[in-house]
Amino acid sequence: MRKRKIPQVVVERMAVYLRILNEMDTDEPDRYISSQDLGDLAGVGAAQVRKDLALFGEFGKQGVGYQVRLLQDELKRIMNVDRPINVGIIGVGELGTALARYNLRRSADDKAYPFRMAALFDNNPAKTGRRVESLEIFSAEEVVDKVKEYRIKLMMITVPASAAQTATDLSIKAGIKAILNFAPVKLIVPPQVKLLQSDVSLQLHHLAFYL
Ligand code: NAD
Repeated sequence: MRKRKIPQVVVERMAVYLRILNEMDTDEPDRYISSQDLGDLAGVGAAQVRKDLALFGEFGKQGVGYQVRLLQDELKRIMNVDRPINVGIIGVGELGTALARYNLRRSADDKAYPFRMAALFDNNPAKTGRRVESLEIFSAEEVVDKVKEYRIKLMMITVPASAAQTATDLSIKAGIKAILNFAPVKLIVPPQVKLLQSDVSLQLHHLAFYL
């Protein structure tokens, strides 16, 4: 099945299922989980779980459920996190630095954490050549070269909104296919590039409605 045809909501739920299985942290070969229990933990119905997983294959046994370890391995493979993924950040200010440190710590604490911080980029000459812990900060002009050199597959954009499209275009020119944008601006990307937007202030506005 072509991955692009899978609805984004299904991919989002798959990531939730995988996190639940990872948190179960079991090597027991006979540990099973029912679609009901997996659905309860994920906040969706059992039928939804079965329907989502059936898009990718036959993983369960009628009346028994899913073998936890096996399903975890399958979901890791489907979600491409059965191998390390090198990540870059453009914009090493408050947020970029915090995200770099967070991901470095996660990788150090959890060997199974797939996202490896590989390189940082900033156009402020006072920052280039410096480091955030072990990570060197390169200039923005070096994005294309360093993405190839460090085999960066995923880019996080943490520059001001006015610079976000430029940073995105540079990433795409370098061959990046997956971008997580934190700048509060709508970016334009070609169809082969997957763009996700992270926006805490939008979520706060969303929550404020319920006060
Ligand atoms: P900051 O000013 O501390 O850092 C921005 C960095 O980007 C600076 O180091 C600057 O030199 C660099 N930069 C500017 N133009 C650049 C370019 N063309 N190429 C490379 N680097 C460039 O800002 P911050 O507080 O870290 O915020 C960064 C972005 O994240 C902003 O757009 C902000 O609105 C956004 N933000 C989003 C969330 C969220 O929830 N998604 C939360 C906080 C901040």
